[in-house]
Amino acid sequence: MNTDPSTNLSIPELPKPICGLQDIALNLWWTWNPRGKNLFRLLNPYLWKESGHNPIKMLKELPDEELLSLCKNDLFMREYRYVHALFKGYMAKRSSCHLEESLPIAYFCAEYGLHHSVPIYSGGLGFLAGDIVKESSDMGLPMVGVGFMYPQGYVRQVIGSDGWQNSLNEPLERDTAPIERVLDAQGDHFTIQVPFIDPPVFASVWKINVGRVKLYLLDTDIDKNDPWDREISSRLYTPDMNQRLRQQIVLGIGGYRVLEKLNIKYSILHLNEGHPAFALFERVRNFIEVDGISLDEAIERVKRTSIFTTHTPLQAATDVYSFDMMSHYFSDYWKRLGMEKERFLRFGINPDEPTAGFNMTVLGMKMCNHRNAVSKKHCQVTKKLWKNIFSDDSKAPPIEYVTNGVHLATWLADEFIEAFDAILGEGWLDMQDNEDIWLRIVELSDEEIWKIHYGHKVAMVNFIRERVRRKWSDEGIDPLVAMAEGVMLDPDVLTIGFARRMTSYKRPDLILSDLDRLDRIINNFARPVQIVFAGKAHPSDNPGKKILQHIFKTAQDPRFRGRIAFVEDYGENVAKYLVRGVDVWLNNPKMPLEACGTSGMKASINGTLHLSVLDGWWPEGYSGKNGWAFGGAESDDVTDASALYDVIEKDIVPLYYDMGDKGFSSEWINMMKKAMITIAPRFSARRMMKDYLEKFYLPISRELKKEEAAMGPAS
Ligand SMILES: *Cc1c(COP(=O)(O)O)cnc(C)c1O
Repeated sequence: MNTDPSTNLSIPELPKPICGLQDIALNLWWTWNPRGKNLFRLLNPYLWKESGHNPIKMLKELPDEELLSLCKNDLFMREYRYVHALFKGYMAKRSSCHLEESLPIAYFCAEYGLHHSVPIYSGGLGFLAGDIVKESSDMGLPMVGVGFMYPQGYVRQVIGSDGWQNSLNEPLERDTAPIERVLDAQGDHFTIQVPFIDPPVFASVWKINVGRVKLYLLDTDIDKNDPWDREISSRLYTPDMNQRLRQQIVLGIGGYRVLEKLNIKYSILHLNEGHPAFALFERVRNFIEVDGISLDEAIERVKRTSIFTTHTPLQAATDVYSFDMMSHYFSDYWKRLGMEKERFLRFGINPDEPTAGFNMTVLGMKMCNHRNAVSKKHCQVTKKLWKNIFSDDSKAPPIEYVTNGVHLATWLADEFIEAFDAILGEGWLDMQDNEDIWLRIVELSDEEIWKIHYGHKVAMVNFIRERVRRKWSDEGIDPLVAMAEGVMLDPDVLTIGFARRMTSYKRPDLILSDLDRLDRIINNFARPVQIVFAGKAHPSDNPGKKILQHIFKTAQDPRFRGRIAFVEDYGENVAKYLVRGVDVWLNNPKMPLEACGTSGMKASINGTLHLSVLDGWWPEGYSGKNGWAFGGAESDDVTDASALYDVIEKDIVPLYYDMGDKGFSSEWINMMKKAMITIAPRFSARRMMKDYLEKFYLPISRELKKEEAAMGPAS
């Protein structure tokens, strides 16, 4: 079966002169292109906003007359032709990564953070996967992605006047999302049966074009399934372990089957986190049954050609399934592989807790010779954490690290992209990991940088106020709630941002530890400070919800005069406003529990200065001059909070308000430039993907070529 017959049922027939809009609308490429975004805005600015920046929804709602009159609008047509040519050029661009001849890399992840019009993500892991797919497309890396469609869609956070988080599910309207159904030979929605699950489970397949990378999503919410099975992919990371196991069987084994049925050949399997790790068994089965090699040879081949990326610094945060549950689903499967139960289960046994059950991270570690942590520090933690897995295997290859990075074209503000275009020339994004080109940022004047940054602060404050105004007019909220949600924010005040998952280990309320001291900092008459919080607690994380409530109640306290705000419903769009709209980005997890963290990178590349404990990526990023580090090697709430107040009072506030009569502090801007220069190239997704390429993709691919050559010419 061919991979391409696919369709989106909502996209209307467009007038001939602009029919190429369909290609652009059905490829997320536009989301990381200022001119692409602008093109849709030009179509109809009001509908663009109302559609939630979803081109399919907007095109569906635009009246025909309006489309026809656009064809006569020279300005629009010129922009349309320019963007269409840019898109075509992008799709046809040559690859520069020496893998052209190779089969693609299959990339599996349970979530992808791509754009708010495709809500199939929960947090950091998803945005990392999304950035990896986008960057692979930019580099022309051959890759195909596999993931889940979550029909329950977006979980919207709504906070009551008591500060308690409630969740509202906003179901995903599949046919007006920028996704397509994959069709089978009969023109029906292509559906697979997940092998070896009894009673049978089916999944339909959707496709998202992410530039040049195709991402396939499995959807179990279809008529063919029992109600219980339809729920399998209804929400991310269900706490029901039985359902979770079924989810991971569908993702790993079903996902593998999708590629097989679509006849997509690939050479390397890259698993992002343990969730899709069952794909490894399916790969073994495939090698045995298709290539006719023995079980042992198949396992060896899987190990040599598969990559496992771990993101968890705690054993307790990995998925473990009881042996009973495993036997229930896999007893036919291991027979099919010709494996004894013992040997099969041993792949998931954690030597530290041998009776706990089958551990997905252990499976990934054991069945992939190529494994990596996501920062240098996380690598040390990971080696210690799992040292017993390999204690009896001295030949086991080491655990490497590839520090995460962020997709610059997605996370860097358009205004900065345009300013860099002007000084570096268009095409500089192709050299984004070259540290030298960034030195030229000094050519931007302080006034220019401050104008852009101050513009972002104003845009953030307006965005927050507009949301509260809507809530006020729709629901008639309590004025104290309006205050707590940020109506009184002031773009002229030094602003600290803290936006991330509301969960204990991230210590979101550390800065509230000593309210009297905080009062003096915030309400300093001449040099005030304001704090903007955002973040969701996992629906089943009550301690996380309590922390959120504590922050919300503090924000309602009149003594802080509206200078503490909690912005509801953190997601990709809110993140974009916050990472560039605040002055300082705060990060204070309990060490060493932040494997990497990426929001601080998104902030730093936009000149928002990182204030962080030395965890995750920050030991690699911090130079002493491009942000601040605080806190002891052993996290202690009392001493860390006191160190945090010290840095704010002694370093940050004086530096920021050292403005003279210019209206900005040159020393502050100097530090912003240092942050951008030192962090953008080294924590770009380009640098990250080059690391993956050099550490894993290229060596594996070379080895495969050697093996192929040794086996003689293909028949
Ligand atoms: C980048 C991002 C994250 C991950 O940030 P951390 O630093 O790992 O907390 C989470 N959510 C959103 C919306 C993001 O954009």
